[in-house]
Amino acid sequence: MVNIILLGPPGAGKGTQAKRLVDQRAMVQLSTGDMLRDAKTSGSEMGRKVAAVMDRGDLVTDEIVIGLIAEKLATPSVGGFIFDGFPRTLKQADALADLLLQSGQGLDAVIEMQVDDAALVARISGRYTCGNCGEVYHDTTRPTKAAGVCDACGSTDLRRRADDNADALRIRLMEYYKKTSPLIGYYYAKKQLTSIDGLAEMDAVAAAVAKVLDRQE
Ligand code: AMP
Repeated sequence: MVNIILLGPPGAGKGTQAKRLVDQRAMVQLSTGDMLRDAKTSGSEMGRKVAAVMDRGDLVTDEIVIGLIAEKLATPSVGGFIFDGFPRTLKQADALADLLLQSGQGLDAVIEMQVDDAALVARISGRYTCGNCGEVYHDTTRPTKAAGVCDACGSTDLRRRADDNADALRIRLMEYYKKTSPLIGYYYAKKQLTSIDGLAEMDAVAAAVAKVLDRQE
């Protein structure tokens, strides 16, 4: 069992790589962004509370996301957890360390996916996903084979995120630099950080991620 964090700005490819690991290694993806979007769609009280914050591109409160993760860690994962989009603040990182400790688990590696801002804008502005299975596509670099139909599951429920627009992206990037990028130093000091080139081809990125995982097993 290996527990890892995928760290990087919006559009770095964290979700794409996490989904590959779920398919190949029976790991469990814990994406706080996906959980919050589900809450939004369900119309729950929490979903209504976070909707405007998310659409704007700001971070939701630490308490909410820590609560979501605490719930998920109660069910152990045989293959291990992939934390995708969590932690995003130092407070969340400390809370994660406590939660793992309490459940007799550890954190094995933190993989920082390095990309530059220009690439992020290009990636995010063409991005869409399958609402049914979560597969990620892009208008120019990875369109579906048949227009409007998911290659992976055949669903026609293809969606664009409300926060994948230029204004929200600017705010999401600044939130990343202000509040999340300090985690690079935090995990480097704990000797848990490996940085990889997130701009390489998707398969090359996957190989770099696999190398880090294989080192832990
Ligand atoms: P993501 O799908 O990871 O890009 O997350 C989408 C949005 O959900 C973010 O812009 C935040 O508003 C919110 N969010 C997701 N994860 C977190 C987190 N760990 N801490 C605070 N806000 C989060």
